[in-house]
Amino acid sequence: MENSEFDLIVLGAGSGGIAAAIRAAEHGARVALLEPHELGGTCVNAGCVPKKAMWLAAELALMQKTATALCFSGDERTLDWPRFIEHRQRYIGNIHASYRQRLDDLGVVTLRTRGRLVGPGLVTCLDGAHSGWELAGRGVLLATGGRSRRASIPGGELGIDSDGFFDLAQPPPSIVLVGGGYIAVELAGILSALGSRVCMLVRGERLLEHFDLDLSEAAALHLRHVGVDLHFGVEVEGVTRSGACYRLRKRGSAPEGEVDELLWAIGRAPNTEGLGLAGLGVATTTDGRIEVDAHGRTSVPGVFAIGDVASLGPQLTPLAVRAGRALSDQLFGGALAGPLLDGPVPTVVFGRPPLGSIGESEARAKELWGDGAVRVYRGHFRPMLAALAGSELRALVKLVCVGEEERVVGLHVAGPAADEMLQGFAVAMRMGATKADFDATVAIHPTAAEELVLLR
Ligand code: NDP
Repeated sequence: MENSEFDLIVLGAGSGGIAAAIRAAEHGARVALLEPHELGGTCVNAGCVPKKAMWLAAELALMQKTATALCFSGDERTLDWPRFIEHRQRYIGNIHASYRQRLDDLGVVTLRTRGRLVGPGLVTCLDGAHSGWELAGRGVLLATGGRSRRASIPGGELGIDSDGFFDLAQPPPSIVLVGGGYIAVELAGILSALGSRVCMLVRGERLLEHFDLDLSEAAALHLRHVGVDLHFGVEVEGVTRSGACYRLRKRGSAPEGEVDELLWAIGRAPNTEGLGLAGLGVATTTDGRIEVDAHGRTSVPGVFAIGDVASLGPQLTPLAVRAGRALSDQLFGGALAGPLLDGPVPTVVFGRPPLGSIGESEARAKELWGDGAVRVYRGHFRPMLAALAGSELRALVKLVCVGEEERVVGLHVAGPAADEMLQGFAVAMRMGATKADFDATVAIHPTAAEELVLLR
């Protein structure tokens, strides 16, 4: 490499790192992007994208059951899992290719290596052909993401995590999922729809601890309705393997016996090892993330961090992308310095059904504004397709409003199409929509989304 001086050196080519690198290059910056694995990080390779593909397969499986209940005749088809995975991986391959093309077109220097901070603005390449190369950058952006956590118990290394789920060649006949967060809820729904017998062990008393309680309860009700064996207040204390099966020692009430697969979904740890943080004095938080301010700045001038490795905001791909672009706009595009993230955050758990949330839960709104200032509107309804098929299950819509003007600060949906329904409502809430705005909006009939503008 003739020139090893850059305006920006980005460590990690996940969603956040790539977004920052592309935006900086669009502004004319000379950018180096270091990544030892495939482009795209967790989201593209072992997260959002392959998960959504599996969720879509699960939806198709369920649709066939519904079709049968609604008088479609003929045999139900089963999924040829390995061949479906070929389609999934081809789709992911296309994303890799389009990232590669975009980065090359913009002249971003991508190096297949890990990097380590060795001085202010100085990064050493650690792997392969690039090993030992030193790069100098006016700015360094740490966007190295995270990885699944394992429990520190005897046998905690046994079983798989979400990465292992994506390597499965077929659905296990029976599986225990440990955890009650995003990943456990999503994979429980997918695996049960695709034929596994699923047991979930949650150490707390509810699913999705940080979501609105009504949404958590709806998630549990729906999972149980589809046959997931869900247990709260259970802690796994040890795991042993006997032959091809696992046996769990646990505290709390849950079934005994052997299970074919065990999957840990107990949160993710930041990828900070080997980055040289301590040597340069880059501060980390108690949970090991890189400490940043609202501008993505670490404790060391010229070193920034975004995405799952940083302490800014929840670990969601679109937030990493936003933060990366905003940072590059501010560093190289003349944008005014300001917080990288703002406004209410929409998020969806691709459960069964999908669960969507924007902004504050009822409990959090009461903490922030006081009980007296919060008014809640809640509705349950039978989605038309489910009702036609004879299901009694109800979907949930909920608005959390504050103040005299009833500004909508929280919106929560558990039901079919929640995933596609939320984006437009997020725009409205960002613009400060009030309950009166919702009331004044003409409904689209008959849809599930109309329930949100018909709440009384
Ligand atoms: P979450 O933080 O969502 O949930 C972790 C769960 O594991 C909680 O129920 C937690 O319980 C439990 N837990 C933690 N430690 C232990 C332990 N030692 N033993 C048993 N249970 C434990 O993490 P996930 O792994 O599900 O997902 C990681 C992150 O990835 C999410 O927080 C989210 O930001 C992101 N993600 C986003 C998705 C999306 O946008 N659709 C999909 C998947 C992931 P407790 O509450 O008691 O601590």
